[in-house]
Amino acid sequence: MASILVVDDERIIRDGCLRILGKLGYEVREAGSGEEGLNLLQDGPCDLLLLDLKMPGLSGMEVLQRVRENHPGLMVVVITGYATVESAVEAMKAGAYDFIPKPFTPDQLRLVVHRALEKRALEMEAAGLRKERERGLREIAGEKSRIKTIIHCMVDGVLVTDHEGQVVLNNPAAMRMLKMTAPGDLGLPLREALGRDGLEAWAEKIGQVCGGKSPAVSQEIPIGETTLMAHTAPVLGEDGEILGAVTVLRDIGLLKAMDRMKSDFVAMVSHELRAPLASVEQQLSVILAGILGDINERQRDMMARAKERTRGLICLINDLLDLAKIEAGVVIQYRERLSIAGVLEKAVEILKGEAEAKNLTLHLSAAPSLPPVMGDQRNMEEVFLNLLSNAIKYTGEGGWVRVEARPEGSYLCVQVEDNGIGISPEDLPHIFDKFYRVKNAQTRKIVGTGLGLPIVKRIVEAHLGMVEVESQPGSGSKFRVYLPLDPFWEERHEGKHSAPDSGNFGSPS
Ligand code: ADP
Repeated sequence: MASILVVDDERIIRDGCLRILGKLGYEVREAGSGEEGLNLLQDGPCDLLLLDLKMPGLSGMEVLQRVRENHPGLMVVVITGYATVESAVEAMKAGAYDFIPKPFTPDQLRLVVHRALEKRALEMEAAGLRKERERGLREIAGEKSRIKTIIHCMVDGVLVTDHEGQVVLNNPAAMRMLKMTAPGDLGLPLREALGRDGLEAWAEKIGQVCGGKSPAVSQEIPIGETTLMAHTAPVLGEDGEILGAVTVLRDIGLLKAMDRMKSDFVAMVSHELRAPLASVEQQLSVILAGILGDINERQRDMMARAKERTRGLICLINDLLDLAKIEAGVVIQYRERLSIAGVLEKAVEILKGEAEAKNLTLHLSAAPSLPPVMGDQRNMEEVFLNLLSNAIKYTGEGGWVRVEARPEGSYLCVQVEDNGIGISPEDLPHIFDKFYRVKNAQTRKIVGTGLGLPIVKRIVEAHLGMVEVESQPGSGSKFRVYLPLDPFWEERHEGKHSAPDSGNFGSPS
């Protein structure tokens, strides 16, 4: 509740105020002189001062002046006699809020006090809001400069463009990587700001993100001696409207060089190993064939196992070489119009013997009239040989493997299905990772390198296709490969198709 101080030399006025205001629940103190009143104010603050103007000793005007100096927020209502209306006006000019003439009724006092306290409450609320706003502004300014400092110190480049594709922010790292100048580039369209040949396509892509025509994109940009990885994402406003785009740039030159060195190394070592191993395998075959003389059963058995292990090593080396080639970007050597039916027939023919050895039914359904795809014959053979040999390897005696090809949208879909051991949901997200092999009682005895599916995925993606997999442990697996149809063939054959419906493409994650 508000506290009020009454300063008046007339006891009757003080008593009246105490009674009337006390009844309303206010905390009321009183003083019979100006000096006493000022002392009481020193002891403890109050919300409203009722001050008589005409007092012996320190006058009301003098008290008012000191109050203004020492307690600037305090509300003052002056009490005046009829003869002193002018001094009341003067008091208000000096900072009093209102006046009440003597003699006054309890209602007049209640009204004037109520008004003054209401005004004080409003003033305090306004002051609180003002403080809050100032604090908010200070915080925003602090936050802005903090963010600016952080962006300035980042090792990665940051480039922000508005919805018209004009540069609004570029940190020193971005300027260094893109050889931009500051602050001259700010406000320029990105294409002009970059001012370098070879970056037009990239600037174009960022423009599409800013304009809402493309979702987030990641691109590798070869620039000078190095390569940058640029991730561009739209900046969305509160209502979801696109305000521009932010691009984060990272120099991946060193990583790329290391990757190249690793691939070169693997390729070189594999190459050096393959020739002697092939020769060992050949020599073992000669001995096993009995060309060098008779061998006994135990020798034959041991030689056969040695030959099998040598074959496994040669397969591993071949896979490593393939992978190294693919990672070095040598994937599609001869892109031509291909009949996938022909490729599948060849793969089935090669693996027929393996299927028969396990008493598996191998079924192929691919009409020769299927629309062609554009691809590299050897690569495509490798994809389907891998998928088909996996299906045979991971299906038990007496099972079946079905291969089926059909057009689906603007893609050709080839499905390799088996009723084999299947793949658990925990392993499924990893089977396209290099060297990943499922380890369980059923797969322990099956020989493999863990490189077949990564090779399949890389080849298919290099052909702008996709791989998806569905599998249930114990029921079998379905691998589907989508390859884009030859667009020129499509035009001539009226068959306009759309993209496949949905799917868990590539390495399922
Ligand atoms: P691997 O040489 O081991 O066969 P892959 O990369 O071809 O290597 O396959 C990775 C793993 O995926 C395999 O080890 C196997 O566990 C699993 N896998 C692949 N194809 C099938 C399939 N048709 N049925 C069951 N499991 C499969």
